[in-house]
Amino acid sequence: MNAELDYKSFTLKEVRKGVYAALIKKGQGAWGNAGIIDLGDELLVFDTFASPQAAQELRIAAETLTGKQVRYAINSHVHFDHTFGNQIFRDAHIISSTTTRNELSKINLMELINQFGPYIAQLEEQAEKMSDPIKKQEFFEEDISEKIRLKDNLHHIDLTLPSITFNRKLSLHGTKRTAELISFGPGHSPDDTILYLPEDYVLFAGDLISVNFHPLLAPNGDYHNWQKALMTIADLDIETIVPGHGNVSDREAIHSMISYISEIVDLVITSGEGGSSLEELLKKPILEAFNDWHGSYVYEWNLKTLFNLNKKN
Ligand SMILES: [Zn+2]
Repeated sequence: MNAELDYKSFTLKEVRKGVYAALIKKGQGAWGNAGIIDLGDELLVFDTFASPQAAQELRIAAETLTGKQVRYAINSHVHFDHTFGNQIFRDAHIISSTTTRNELSKINLMELINQFGPYIAQLEEQAEKMSDPIKKQEFFEEDISEKIRLKDNLHHIDLTLPSITFNRKLSLHGTKRTAELISFGPGHSPDDTILYLPEDYVLFAGDLISVNFHPLLAPNGDYHNWQKALMTIADLDIETIVPGHGNVSDREAIHSMISYISEIVDLVITSGEGGSSLEELLKKPILEAFNDWHGSYVYEWNLKTLFNLNKKN
């Protein structure tokens, strides 16, 4: 237990016997954490990283460690860093919620290829304007370099859609353990699914939970429903959490996420009531409790998203 195995694009951490967190290494094409779960008679991976190369490495690791073939690959949500390795699992069953599959099917790779260059140039321009050198470096290393890598890789992506979908809940019963997939509707993304191992008290949270990392409040998500999902998750018997971004943690991570969302929403509402402009809001220092979290550039995006939402309401 707790053994760590080193790979090019991730580190594997065994959190229970036969249950591994695949924690990404920066800039190696993985980008969002994944997991390997030995169900006994069957083998499952949770999320497929951001590239076929990293996904291939994950598959080889899973099959070598267990001596089994991957039977199921899950997509927690639509974002690239959790789905763009799908093609490596084409011969297995790829599973997601119905909404996540619909969202994935809307991705137009040719359009992405055309848009990504100008989009990255815009991010680089944004980074150049950052006054804090540490945050600027973080932005390059944690986001821009991953996106450059993805852009260079887009020609090798063969978008592969899930073959099995479900709506609220799906249980996979193995001979060693059961894996429960629960989808919560819009939260961080249009629909977020977690994987829960009730016999092991382990949660693979996807991007509903990040650890010491600013979570992205996407304009097409729903922070209110996200809070509700987190409250439901808090009622589950959980000891170990594998987040979508950041390190393995315990149930404290659920409460950190709940307070992050409440505090940032409160900040935007209060400064809106005080008549602050977006520029004034962005100039304020990051909320103290989250000041040392990675992904400080995401904090700025979150403020913009919430400010625009607040203006509309
Ligand atoms: Zn995400």
